[in-house]
Amino acid sequence: MTALKHRAPYRGTIPLTETNWQAVQTRDARADAKLRYGVRTMGVACRPSCPSRRPNRENVDLFATIEEAIALGYRACKRCRPGETA
Ligand SMILES: [Zn+2]
Repeated sequence: MTALKHRAPYRGTIPLTETNWQAVQTRDARADAKLRYGVRTMGVACRPSCPSRRPNRENVDLFATIEEAIALGYRACKRCRPGETA
C-alpha cells in the first residue's frame, strides 16, 4: 500500500491508497460501507457512490465514517446523505 502524493498535509483518517481512490473515481457503491471522502475545495463529505462531480485527488481526504469528516469541519453532502448507513 503506497500512499499517493499529496500537495497539502493530508487530514484524512484512512490512507489515500490507489485502491481507495479508485473506489471514489468509479463511484463504487461497495465501498459505501467503509469509506467517505471529503473535498477540501467544497468542504463537503460524500459517500463513494455520490453522483456529484469527481474531485481532484489532491483535494480529497478519506475517512472511515462521516463523523470523522464532520469533526474536521466537513458538511455532509445533501445528495448522497453520507450519514445514513449504506
Ligand atoms: Zn455526495
